[in-house]
Amino acid sequence: MKRIELTERIKALIKASVGDDIDYEKIAAFEATAVTSLPLNKRGSVFDRGQITAETFIEAANLLNTGLFVPLHTLHEQGYEIPVGRLFYGEHVKSNQGTDELRVLFFVDGTSPDLISRLDTGTIEEVSVGMQFKRLLCSTCNIDLMEDNESIWSQTCKNGHVMGMGSNHVKPDGVANFREMSLVSKGASNGAKVLGAQKRLLASAYYKDGSALAASLKDPEFMLFGSPTKLAEEDPMLIAELQAKLVKAEGDLTLTATAKAEAEGKVATLEAAKVTLEAAKTEAEGKVATLEAAKTEAEGKVATLEAAKTEAEGKVAALEAAQVEADAAKVALEAAKAEVETKLLAAETELAPLKAAQTVTLGQRPFKIPLGGVEGLRATTTDSVKPDSDSVGLMASRAFKTPAR
Ligand SMILES: [Zn+2]
Repeated sequence: MKRIELTERIKALIKASVGDDIDYEKIAAFEATAVTSLPLNKRGSVFDRGQITAETFIEAANLLNTGLFVPLHTLHEQGYEIPVGRLFYGEHVKSNQGTDELRVLFFVDGTSPDLISRLDTGTIEEVSVGMQFKRLLCSTCNIDLMEDNESIWSQTCKNGHVMGMGSNHVKPDGVANFREMSLVSKGASNGAKVLGAQKRLLASAYYKDGSALAASLKDPEFMLFGSPTKLAEEDPMLIAELQAKLVKAEGDLTLTATAKAEAEGKVATLEAAKVTLEAAKTEAEGKVATLEAAKTEAEGKVATLEAAKTEAEGKVAALEAAQVEADAAKVALEAAKAEVETKLLAAETELAPLKAAQTVTLGQRPFKIPLGGVEGLRATTTDSVKPDSDSVGLMASRAFKTPAR
């Protein structure tokens, strides 16, 4: 029987923690080393080989002893289980080997007689605490890894010390949250277990104030479970935790693959749009080239037409000048014509009396033959037709004969 005797001192501690008397007949109380400063077994995490500081145990004990409610669970609480008991006292204890411990007293309530029985017989003896820490100090340089998320993920402090390698390890320090204690098959902290009579301290008949208690850790990230020495002995809770992480990782992978497919679809769409735009651009450039060629051609025609216009204008000017010249010439000619007409008229005027005088002269007998003969006078004809018409006796006078040519 590992249960401790419910002395008046123990009952007083329970009452102080719970706040009232309870039915002491139905419960069973036990003492446990909840967590120690021995290196933690938490392979693959920043906690591996970690050693919790003594100050952490002192803080945890103070929290318990000032009424903090820390439930007892079987295996680690998953968020909806009803506790099977509660912790009601704690103390920091220095072991004979020099290690620090958090010793606790807890009771299991009357609803779990089987559990009480298994604790009594030692079938269940390991415990693990769910605890979050304020700081995770580098054992080598004392820098707090929690100040930098990257340090937590890489398990390497800012000075390059890799946790769990060589002599480097974390020193969880300070209690941020003391959530629970669980009864497990394997605890995370070496030596964390429900204690038999010979190892008890807090519940010892020889108890003196100032002795000590136990814990492990819990936080989505900073929770400790189990301390297996062989894979075959893996804590079911550790396996469950790893499986949960695997499921989440697979879910994340699916989301990532979906996002990737979506992104690739967008890239394909954008590339198609790019091809379309480039084709449109090429076509537009072709049109621009055509238009520019047409413009150049049109400009050439305009230049030709302007040259033709200039030439035509030159011809018009020349024609107009010629016209002006021709008009001037016409005026001059008309003036000359008028002058000639005037002179002609004058000559005719002058000639008329002369003609009249000649006519008078020709009408006179004898008349003088003008030099060169008289126009229309044919002596031979006259003589032959009328050879005897003239009684004057003037026969074939040489004077009427036209000189031989
Ligand atoms: Zn460091």
